[in-house]
Amino acid sequence: MQGRYERIAVPDAPVAVVGAGLAGLACARRLIEAGVPVVVFEKARGPSGRCATRRAARSTAVDATPSAATALETRAFDHGAQYYTVRDPAFEAIHREWLEAGVAARWNGRIAAWDPRGGWQEKDEGTERHVGVPGMSALGRHLARDVEVRVEAAVKSLRRAPIAQVRAWELCLQDGTWLGPWAAIVCTAPAAQAAGLVAAHDERLARLAASLEAAPCWALMLDAPGPILAGRDGVFLNDHALGWAARESSKPARQPGGRWTIHASAAWSRVHLELEAEEAAGKLLEAWVDWLRTVGDFEGARVAARPSHLVAHRWRHSIPLAPSSKRCASSDDGTLLLAGDAHGGPRVEGAVLSGLAAAERLLAAYARA
Ligand SMILES: Cc1cc2nc3c(=O)[nH]c(=O)nc-3n(C[C@H](O)[C@H](O)[C@H](O)COP(=O)(O)OP(=O)(O)OC[C@H]3O[C@@H](n4cnc5c(N)ncnc54)[C@H](O)[C@@H]3O)c2cc1C
Repeated sequence: MQGRYERIAVPDAPVAVVGAGLAGLACARRLIEAGVPVVVFEKARGPSGRCATRRAARSTAVDATPSAATALETRAFDHGAQYYTVRDPAFEAIHREWLEAGVAARWNGRIAAWDPRGGWQEKDEGTERHVGVPGMSALGRHLARDVEVRVEAAVKSLRRAPIAQVRAWELCLQDGTWLGPWAAIVCTAPAAQAAGLVAAHDERLARLAASLEAAPCWALMLDAPGPILAGRDGVFLNDHALGWAARESSKPARQPGGRWTIHASAAWSRVHLELEAEEAAGKLLEAWVDWLRTVGDFEGARVAARPSHLVAHRWRHSIPLAPSSKRCASSDDGTLLLAGDAHGGPRVEGAVLSGLAAAERLLAAYARA
């Protein structure tokens, strides 16, 4: 029977994965396990994508003594994904391996939700929340071990390799270098970016990717040592300019201190998306201080108003609004695939499952070839 994926013609050529987030890395690991050579291309300086940890910039140092450097080193914020939950058995197995390897741990944060009409509601619904240790990016770094990841290597465009009778790909990096041939390309960049990469080659995939919109999110990283929101470590804010706030030091294996990561709501982020980071930081701080006053934490508001560190980060694509019902998508010949949380579900778990699904789809194609 002529299978849809029987046309992978250069199975000895490696697979190129675009994006070293959790989806791309999970995909690469699965392929490597099965004996398929893989190279991952990542435009950022390191792996892990939106499962991210940011350290304070050195320029904020007061002096350059070793103790100051250490203090800076520990000023880390999980400014992207905050924690992950586990639902699917396939992800559960990976989660168990992360726990055993010591790169993940349970977060027993005291979480509440706040609503302008209903006030506080404790979130002790039994949800088990886990985080990477010592930061969320540890998950990506762990998945990236033994995988060939080329960082600061943004893929600008793709083309079919000019090899007669063979379906293979080449990719072009930002600096104009063409690399290939690749047996297949798995694109795990956020959907809006993936749409641009595949547009010239597969209209159906491009339309699909373009339809999978993700909400933007401004993230504020604030260090203000002192009592803020005593007794609470994470807050969902409903119907507010802010959507979430977390006390970094309440997560396992973090340094103590007054570091908070605060996420603006999707609506606020959309309206203020093009602000300069400094201006966004100022506005978000104002919203945080105002809100602390609203909930009666006047001492917290006073402390928060004088932070020793204040940086905002713009996530143009944070969480997919309506992910695809399928875990990955591919071209008719099976050599161009889309994966990532826009396909697997809008969270850490979904990203990993999507990457695995893309790998399995390719392996099925190899098995039939
Ligand atoms: C603010 C925020 C809060 C979140 N909160 C949670 C949460 O609490 N719990 C949860 O489970 N999830 C949360 N998420 C979602 C979670 O982070 C994502 O679902 C998951 O990390 C997505 O992984 P991914 O591999 O699909 O995509 P990404 O992590 O985005 O990886 C894609 C990678 O592709 C790279 N890339 C893009 N274009 C190119 C190119 N042209 N060439 C090379 N590389 C490229 C990017 O740099 C990136 O590293 C949050 C996300 C954000 C931003």
